[in-house]
Amino acid sequence: MPLFCAHGVRQTVVPKNLHHLEATPDTIHWGYFDPARAPALRIKSGDLIQAEAVTHHAGDDPDLLMDEKIARIFREVPESDRNPGVHIMTGPIYVEDAKPGDMLEVRYLSMQPRLRHGSNLAANWGYLYKEFGEKERVTIYELDPDTNTASALYGYDFKGKYLVPGTITRCPECDRQKALEGVRVPVRPHLGTAGVAPDVKGRVSTIPPGLHGGNIDNWRIGAGATMYYPVAVDGALFSIGDPHISQGDGELSGTAIEASLNVLFQIVLRKDFKFPSPLLETPKYWIAHGFDEDLDQAMRNASLDMLHLLTEHVGLSPNGMRSGPPGRALPGVEK
Ligand SMILES: [Zn+2]
Repeated sequence: MPLFCAHGVRQTVVPKNLHHLEATPDTIHWGYFDPARAPALRIKSGDLIQAEAVTHHAGDDPDLLMDEKIARIFREVPESDRNPGVHIMTGPIYVEDAKPGDMLEVRYLSMQPRLRHGSNLAANWGYLYKEFGEKERVTIYELDPDTNTASALYGYDFKGKYLVPGTITRCPECDRQKALEGVRVPVRPHLGTAGVAPDVKGRVSTIPPGLHGGNIDNWRIGAGATMYYPVAVDGALFSIGDPHISQGDGELSGTAIEASLNVLFQIVLRKDFKFPSPLLETPKYWIAHGFDEDLDQAMRNASLDMLHLLTEHVGLSPNGMRSGPPGRALPGVEK
C-alpha cells in the first residue's frame, strides 16, 4: 500500500499521552543497540515523548557540557560497559503492538539545546587527520540563542589519543587557545544517531548506520523532520542519542558540534506501508539512505530505494524514472 494518502491529506494522530524520558544510568545504553535490552519506557502508537539525549563528548569540558545528571551517567556507567560503539543512547522505547515488518514513523517536533556549549573533536578517525600532523584537537563552542549561531570559545590539542568514549578532560589543565575568531556557525540541532533495535543476538555497535537507522549523521534529522524506520523486533525498541547542534554533510573532522539536546517527538506505528530502509521526510524533501562498506554500493542501494519510493509510493512509472533521480550523495527528491 502506498505511503501517500489520497488527496495528499496526512492522517492526524491525536496523542493520548505525553511521556518524560530522562537520561540516567538506568535509561541509557552506551555504545550499542541490543534487542535484549529491557525497555526504558513503554508507549502506545501516537504518544508524545519528551526525552533527553546526552552527548558522549560532555567530558571535553565537563564544567560547560555537564550538569549533575549528566555527570552521574559518566560516573556510574563503567568504561567496560561502553562498547562496542561510542554513543550514549536514551531508551529503548517499546512501542505496543509493533511487529517486524511494520514501520515506525517518528515525527521530530522540537530539539532544544540543554546547555549553552558544544564540542567538536578533530579526531584520529577524521578525514584529514594525517594532513593535520596526526594531532587531535578539541574546540569548544558557545551558542548564541539570539542569532541561532555558535562560535568557538577556545580550542586545545588533545593529549594522547582520543580512544575511550566518555573521556573527561579537565580545563585549565589543558592549554586553552583562541580559535576561529570571527567565525559563526549556523545552529541546527539534530540527532546523529537514532533507530530501532536490529534483529541480532547481542550488541550491535552504534557507529556504523544500517537498516535499523543508527549513526546516519544527517543534519536534516531535526525538528520538523519525520523519519520512517523499518521495525525489526517486537516493540521496535527505539532509542535516540548522539545529539548535535551543528554539522555539514558529513563529519569531515571526525565529529559534529556535539551537545546534549532535549527532544520532543511523536511515534506513530504504521502497518499500512513498508519501506526497505530508513526514509527521511523534511518539509521540502524525501531522502533515502543507502548503507554498505563500499560507498558505491551504498549509493546504489539508496538510489534503488529512491526508485522504489517514486514508483511504489508516488506512482511514477519506472521508465519515466530513468531520467532521475539526480545524482547526490544522498538520493533526495524535492516534493
Ligand atoms: Zn556525533
